[in-house]
Amino acid sequence: MLRLEGVTVRFGERAALDAVDLEVAEHEIVCVLGPSGSGKSTLLRVVAGLHGADAGRVFLAGEDQTGVATHRRGVGLMFQDHQLFPQRDVAGNVAFGLRMRGTGRAEAGRRVARLLDLVGLPDAQRRPVGALSGGEQQRVALARALAPEPRLLMLDEPLGQLDRSLRERLVVELRELFGRLGTTVLAVTHDQSEAFALADRVVVMRDGRIAQAGTPLEVWQRPASEFVARFLGFDN
Ligand code: ATP
Ligand code: MG
Repeated sequence: MLRLEGVTVRFGERAALDAVDLEVAEHEIVCVLGPSGSGKSTLLRVVAGLHGADAGRVFLAGEDQTGVATHRRGVGLMFQDHQLFPQRDVAGNVAFGLRMRGTGRAEAGRRVARLLDLVGLPDAQRRPVGALSGGEQQRVALARALAPEPRLLMLDEPLGQLDRSLRERLVVELRELFGRLGTTVLAVTHDQSEAFALADRVVVMRDGRIAQAGTPLEVWQRPASEFVARFLGFDN
């Protein structure tokens, strides 16, 4: 579904991504872990076409995405700072991408209700998003990213501001939902227990490179380096 070949992104002297190779299979859920500044968000942005690569290529379903605009890539993206439309209500935010893609009003309404139910905001449809808490806004952003059922869904710290019990519930529900929809997912998280619960495969980044990629069990049992072991907290 997704393939990166030697993707490099530089900011001045520094490479935020340094010749990254990565493949994500159809229906696979991949979680990207790594310290702050290791290039996780840049990875998502370059796949979404929000940032060009200085070298290398991004392929989606076998097609080179060089020069392809973001809205033509068929990817959904939920940012770290979710960027909702403050002047619209909750339903208007979630339905935004659907109406743009020509989904009918009735179908859009059904999907919005189902998604708001899923993220635990069943009664929030008509509330202005500016009046919601940070965690509630994050759930709206998650519903909005899911709404168009993109072929590749990319999430940047999707559950970052939520409390632990809600995160644990959502991780289980999301895995089930992604499985049902057949969504391919590339998600960034700081929380390794979340990554290990959600992912088919985890990718650990360090300084713009992939330090290790493997199933949660592989990475857990055989960290590839001292860095990975220490990052995962096995430094004994
Ligand atoms: P965090 O966990 O804090 O979100 P991250 O792994 O997502 O970190 P990135 O945002 O991808 O990290 O940034 C990778 C590197 O690229 C960092 O050194 C960052 O300072 C740099 N960087 C990212 N965006 C820009 C930009 N627009 N201009 C200059 N440098 C940038
Ligand atoms: Mg980031």
